[in-house]
Amino acid sequence: MEANLTAATLLGTARNMLVKQPLTRFIFREDQDIYYLKHNQLLATCEAQECNLRLVKPDGSFFWVHMTEIFTQADDGVPVFRMVFSDITERMRTEDELRIAAVAFSTQNGMVITDTKGIIMRVNLAFTRLTGYMPAEAIGKTMSLLHSGRHSLLFYQRMWQKLNDDGHWQGEIWNRRKCGQIYAEMLSITAVVSPERGVTHYVGNFSDITENKEVEAEIHRLAYYDVLTSLPNRRLLQDRIGQAVTATVRSGLFGALFFIDIDHFKTLNDTRGHDTGDQLLIEVAQRLSAMVRDGDTVSRQGGDEFVVLMENLGASTHEAIALAGRLGEKLRNAFEQPFTLKGNEYQCKISIGVSLFNSGDTVEDLFKHADLALYQAKNAGRNLVRFFDPAMQAELEQRSALEIELRKALQRQQLRLYYQLQVNSNGCPIGVEALLRWQHAQHGLVPPDDFIPLAEETGLIFPIGLWVLETACAQLAVWGDDVRTCELQIAVNVSARQFRQADFVAQVQQVLAVSGANPARLKLELTESMMLKDVANTIETMTAIKRLGVSFAMDDFGTGYSSLAYLAQLPLDQFKIDRSFVCNLPGNQNDETIAHTIIGMGRGLSMDVIAEGVETEAQRHFLEKHGCYAYQGYLISRPLPIDELEILLLNPAGHH
Ligand code: C2E
Ligand code: MG
Ligand code: MG
Repeated sequence: MEANLTAATLLGTARNMLVKQPLTRFIFREDQDIYYLKHNQLLATCEAQECNLRLVKPDGSFFWVHMTEIFTQADDGVPVFRMVFSDITERMRTEDELRIAAVAFSTQNGMVITDTKGIIMRVNLAFTRLTGYMPAEAIGKTMSLLHSGRHSLLFYQRMWQKLNDDGHWQGEIWNRRKCGQIYAEMLSITAVVSPERGVTHYVGNFSDITENKEVEAEIHRLAYYDVLTSLPNRRLLQDRIGQAVTATVRSGLFGALFFIDIDHFKTLNDTRGHDTGDQLLIEVAQRLSAMVRDGDTVSRQGGDEFVVLMENLGASTHEAIALAGRLGEKLRNAFEQPFTLKGNEYQCKISIGVSLFNSGDTVEDLFKHADLALYQAKNAGRNLVRFFDPAMQAELEQRSALEIELRKALQRQQLRLYYQLQVNSNGCPIGVEALLRWQHAQHGLVPPDDFIPLAEETGLIFPIGLWVLETACAQLAVWGDDVRTCELQIAVNVSARQFRQADFVAQVQQVLAVSGANPARLKLELTESMMLKDVANTIETMTAIKRLGVSFAMDDFGTGYSSLAYLAQLPLDQFKIDRSFVCNLPGNQNDETIAHTIIGMGRGLSMDVIAEGVETEAQRHFLEKHGCYAYQGYLISRPLPIDELEILLLNPAGHH
């Protein structure tokens, strides 16, 4: 046998080694019959023969070829057979896959193929049989065509989350047929991933499990729900807590367990009978259920004990304590209204024990903690909310005391506006930043970081923010009449909730008009993170305020994750380099680069750049060398009350 180089390469054997070897040695055993059949036909007819068969390499692997064999006679009369073959392995594989896919697609299970947005591209016969929708009615629609309305948004969000993370989701889902009937299906969705383009399609495969479901549902109801109140029982609650604890691992958000006990329930039961007691339990169940959000669980543990499970209470302990404390109070307050039991009013109070949880906790621990907290609430005189952790309890009490005092701070005129000087590279004042202080009767001067978050949470930021704006504008009006100060700008910090008020633009306009301040001297400082929350709305509000002549600075720049694309859209006038970068200048490579980049970005977007927290001459020098010509910080001056600031302003020799 002789072979050309291509053939030798395909066969994985050197050309000289092929000589004298029969071709059949290279034909896959199962395909040898085909070959002999064709070969005999060739001998009989002398006509060229074609077939597909597999050839084997010396290493045992095989590949598909399309082979043509022809018959010629050499000069000496010896018959010669010529084979021409080409590798068709890839084509055979594709054909196999298509065939398999076609069979798989026509199974008894419903199948849907969607694009990455969930828009249906193909359905099979079983899909139509199970859902009632013809292909033409389904194709082009999203899967929400089948939504039953029985699942929360969270359910679908978790499904997509899992699909994105693992490429697969499987579970039971309630869907709606075309005729309106709701049915249960076991659905499995798989992402089709292309190595180059990532996810290209989703394939859904489902079967109708309604019948099993109905039987199952009844069993489930008996096993997991309290017969008297229809609330989830202890078993189901434990499941849900387990899930909730797992969910905190992903979300990083705290959850809380509220143990609730009806004060003096035993007395009611003993004096008015079990019927009345049962009726109260039913009403309590309804009242508690009405108080919680979708997705929270209210359950009855037996007797007069109820447990509420709440999730997503914030990422920090502080936040979670504050929120859980407030929600606990809300539950307790829901019992101010008396119940009507068999025509008689009955005033009933509850005690609540709270235990916060996140990823590290076990269900048993949580039950113990919340139970202990409940015991303490009862011991402390009932009708109370108590946290498991004494430190948490103390923090909660401190916070609520602070909240009460902060409410009064405005009326008692305990708020002060301090001003911190901002200068240019010649050391000349160009403006000030207004910084809020709370002059507290016992605690002295409270810094804003200690009460602004609380003011934000409680909504007190609305009157407080307005007061700051009014005070700053009144100051601008006073300065406007003096040539030595009329050019100075005042920068006012605006918090997220304040900025998002529907009438914020109108407020600014009104304060400017009433005070007579020059709008060009007012600058509002917004933080990076709040601007990115809802870019479209932010731009709208900012643009409206800019039309009044007011300018904007981005505070704490560098601490968020703004992309250049966003920054370019925002109608900003100034970046403030955050103190955390300035403090490591010069010397820290990373922070030097960040400062440098911010200055460059500012220049690129034709914006002013100011550095805050400048404490040393070396920092100021570095900034100046790299093109930042405005500074604020202890090097120049601390934040000062207005009279001290004015001494500094009007005696230029006194400062830097
Ligand atoms: P901010 O707007 O980034 O203000 C700069 C903070 O850095 C101020 O802290 C200021 O006292 C401090 N600081 C200035 N120079 C230096 C320095 O050289 N070294 C150091 N270590 N610190 C310096 P303050 O006054 O405690 O204010 C903290 C934050 O509270 C402010 O950060 C601002 O976000 C907020 N805030 C202050 N006043 C108001 C207000 O009226 N409304 C709102 N919503 N927030 C305010
Ligand atoms: Mg600021
Ligand atoms: Mg700042």
